[in-house]
Amino acid sequence: MSWRSRALPPDPDLAERLLARDRDAVAVALDLADDRRPAQRARALALLERLERLTPFPGPPRVGITGAPGAGKSTLLDALVRALRGRGETVAIAAVDPSSRASGGALLGDRIRVRGSGADPGVFVRSMAARDRLGGVSEAARAGVAIFAAAFDRVFVETVGVGQSESEVAGMVDTPVYVANPASGDELQFMKAGLLELPDVFCVNKADLGAPAHRTASELTSALALSPAAADGWTPPVLLVSARDGAGIDALLDALADHRRHAEASGSLAQRRRAGAVEHVIMALRERYGSFGLDRVGGEAALRARLRAESDTTSFHRIEILSREVEDALAKAPAR
Ligand code: GDP
Repeated sequence: MSWRSRALPPDPDLAERLLARDRDAVAVALDLADDRRPAQRARALALLERLERLTPFPGPPRVGITGAPGAGKSTLLDALVRALRGRGETVAIAAVDPSSRASGGALLGDRIRVRGSGADPGVFVRSMAARDRLGGVSEAARAGVAIFAAAFDRVFVETVGVGQSESEVAGMVDTPVYVANPASGDELQFMKAGLLELPDVFCVNKADLGAPAHRTASELTSALALSPAAADGWTPPVLLVSARDGAGIDALLDALADHRRHAEASGSLAQRRRAGAVEHVIMALRERYGSFGLDRVGGEAALRARLRAESDTTSFHRIEILSREVEDALAKAPAR
């Protein structure tokens, strides 16, 4: 089944349809958000702005699932989706695959779709394939998250590998989860690299392997004990799970709920959303106008400070407003 080729009907009520959890509207909205033609682009931005306004804070939990290839992310997501569906929650997954340009398709989402829940209307999976443009994947994922957050009880963003896409994704979720592969050594590399955004939950998968999983969990625990404490006082738990057997999945869901509660109560959730929105605006403007364009409105640092001073957690609207400001400035001083 392909919805990519479906013609887009004029649809002023798309936001309402999404909020009413109309599944067809989700596919239409995602297509619209992917459409680069100017008229469709304008419609997409109008939709995303509306969704941001109409989806009350904090909305459905947004959880990032990240880790090296082979760690078991998609198996784990499958298990999480099954457990959540058992609780009656609807689930959407944005699978961000920065490598898919080379592999010719967005593999993560297809694997999930094939494996679990193809016929279940309470589950929606969309792959965000790499684009040629810098920031293309995370722009698509941002739009996807805004659309999913309007229409589902829970939103997952899955990323592969460790790199730039990880930290971009960390800025669009409430609870980043790192999935560690036992005895791979990945996680120690990972800890040494000193990730800027430390995950809030560590999940050592393949606990059914026994000793290697336990060893990895204790290595991670010791490494974390040496890391600086999070500003909001949250201590990331290290959980042992077996995505294959379903062991530890409920404990993982409990940890996600605990983190969400903590982040809401401490204010770090709101702060994270605001910071994520600021980075989204900066990234989108940089992509559109380059640093030359940003310099026309005072430069990136000044712009970031200005955005931070606002209490807003929305971004699509601010991108549009600031774009007009940059364009006005460029029109007044076009000479390089
Ligand atoms: P991803 O690349 O991170 O999405 O990893 P996959 O979910 O595709 O899993 C990679 C491999 O690990 C597959 O062969 C899975 O069957 C296997 N795997 C995933 N979870 C578990 C687990 O809990 N226990 C064991 N023993 N194998 C697992």
